[in-house]
Amino acid sequence: MKELNSDVLDGSVQLQVQGLSKHFDVKHQKRKATLRAVNEVSFEVRKGETFSVVGESGCGKSTLGRCIARLIEPSAGKVFFEGEDIGGLRSNALRQLRKRVQFIFQDPYSSMNPRMRVRAILSEPLRNFDHSEEYIEQRLLELLQLVSLHPDALDKFPHQFSGGQRQRLVIARALALEPSFIVCDEPVSALDVSVQAQVINLLGDLQKSLGLTYLFISHDLSVVRHISHRVAVMYLGRIVELGTSQELFANPQHPYTQALMAAVPRFEEGARGAPIGERLKGEIPSPLNPPSGCAFRTRCPRAQTICAQTVPPVVRFSDDHSAACHLL
Ligand code: SF4
Repeated sequence: MKELNSDVLDGSVQLQVQGLSKHFDVKHQKRKATLRAVNEVSFEVRKGETFSVVGESGCGKSTLGRCIARLIEPSAGKVFFEGEDIGGLRSNALRQLRKRVQFIFQDPYSSMNPRMRVRAILSEPLRNFDHSEEYIEQRLLELLQLVSLHPDALDKFPHQFSGGQRQRLVIARALALEPSFIVCDEPVSALDVSVQAQVINLLGDLQKSLGLTYLFISHDLSVVRHISHRVAVMYLGRIVELGTSQELFANPQHPYTQALMAAVPRFEEGARGAPIGERLKGEIPSPLNPPSGCAFRTRCPRAQTICAQTVPPVVRFSDDHSAACHLL
């Protein structure tokens, strides 16, 4: 796997998330309940970087990505894209945002219509923006070239491709309108390990050649480690630690991050990391009934009395490294 691109960063903020929450009203045991998927999350993403959000399944990272791309509406908080509050965008302004911010879904099998040929799948977003037939034909060939697929692909159906090729098509469709920011939601987790690196390398090459910014959502720290400039660690809807990839992997501060890092396989040593569950006691609590105070306290080996009473404050170690724990 190639290392991340450092020459695309110019340091300017492209996306700001301020106090974002997403709660769902659900029925639980025949009663109304609130599922707190994302709680008061704040961070910034800089132009040209790969900002990763990691955590166990159910921590709220995919919901966060969907709120940022405005596929769903947040319950509270704001998202600014290039200085503009996207929560206030309606109709045509929201359509224009779709050009600039795209989303790559986890599963290439279900994210394309199996009855449509690739030509129709890739041209759909272009037609939605009323491009000419001549431009669309030319753009389709450019898109296939960008993702290293042969022009013959245009006349085939999705089922005629391998999983890795299908994810290349999904990436091509996301690139069709020339976005500058892409939310990648577990883009390789449905793929065989043997093709994961190829798709990750492709995303890296595209970032470099097109100057893209990625919000990369993953539970796989061994992937995140190689491709991220900065990483936010989520637990039960909150960011518990945020730092540069280098610092977070070398010097994790939050007990949850430390447990996650200890579970990352160390390929260079030929060793296997222990599954997270073996490093932490108990199950991840339900977001329907999160623990009081620090949500991690029911599994934390260092929990104290105060951890059940108060949400821990965010402690800043530097401009690029912070964590939320009472013991820091
Ligand atoms: Fe553990 Fe308490 Fe820190 Fe939470 S606040 S991570 S429970 S020590």
